[in-house]
Amino acid sequence: MSLLEVTDLRVAFPTSDGVVQAVRGLSFRIERGRTLAIVGESGSGKTVSTQAILGLTPGADISGSAVFDGVNLLELDGERLRHIRGAEISVIFQDPLTSLHPLYKVGWQIEELIRVHRPGTSRAEARRRAVELLGLVGIPRPDRRVDDYPHQFSGGMRQRAMIAMSLALNPKLIVADEPTTALDATVQAQILELITRVQAEFGIALILITHDLGVVAGMADEVLVMYAGLAVERADRRTLYYRPHHPYTKGLLESIPGSSGDRGGRLRPIPGSPPSLIALPSGCAFHPRCPYAMPVCSAERPPLATVTGEGSHASACWLPHEAVGLGAAADALRL
Ligand code: SF4
Repeated sequence: MSLLEVTDLRVAFPTSDGVVQAVRGLSFRIERGRTLAIVGESGSGKTVSTQAILGLTPGADISGSAVFDGVNLLELDGERLRHIRGAEISVIFQDPLTSLHPLYKVGWQIEELIRVHRPGTSRAEARRRAVELLGLVGIPRPDRRVDDYPHQFSGGMRQRAMIAMSLALNPKLIVADEPTTALDATVQAQILELITRVQAEFGIALILITHDLGVVAGMADEVLVMYAGLAVERADRRTLYYRPHHPYTKGLLESIPGSSGDRGGRLRPIPGSPPSLIALPSGCAFHPRCPYAMPVCSAERPPLATVTGEGSHASACWLPHEAVGLGAAADALRL
């Protein structure tokens, strides 16, 4: 049994302008100890889908199922879901300051998390664990820094503290939502290396949400590409980078600097912008931006279907289902 299996997830937000169809029938699964990257531009539904599963989208209409370790999270009451979200599933956000309270010491916040979910833990034991966790994630002199406030940490250290907090209760799954976007390139690489290390060390499954395929090149076992609330391509990492099928995936890969054969190493962004989720284009939602669009594309929505001879590789596109090599992108990322 998969650790998490999401089936036909739909998330909509009623607004005065109409219904925002943020997620329109998403299915995926993740196994224990594995890494699934969910990739897409802003508005693709990558963040909303995991937030909905975790009960973090108040006011949304949600349907489908999200079975975590045998329990459908979408059927749980708020208290039970909060418990699972704290103890069994941890979330790392892009901005640690959304999770770290500015008025409380970093160590105290880790201690409180432990004591709320493990009521028998003494204050001394929780503090010892907080120091140990801060040391584990590379905070220097953790016995002293445990009494610092979040503003006394650099951006990278705050993200390390968030990772320490995410490990505090030995979760089975970590959801990391753009965990390095706010950091400079050097710190970004260090944080990604840290996440990979602790994930392997503790056998935790990881859902990594990002808009940048370059970020997940060295980390993901499997990649799910989302566009306008739908999965448009799913494949293991090497297949996705070497033999992408969907034009949107190819566009994302070619927008990684140096991947498109552009000797100047310049970005080649995908032309146009994502559609309104209130008034979605007919058929394939990518057709207004797609260089390969055909008459059928605006008339009928393509299903997510297996790419010929590629096992678990699937793509939602009317183009013939043979994967097309894009070795330049994969080579640039040294896969
Ligand atoms: Fe492009 Fe058509 Fe494929 Fe959509 S279905 S990605 S418009 S070729």
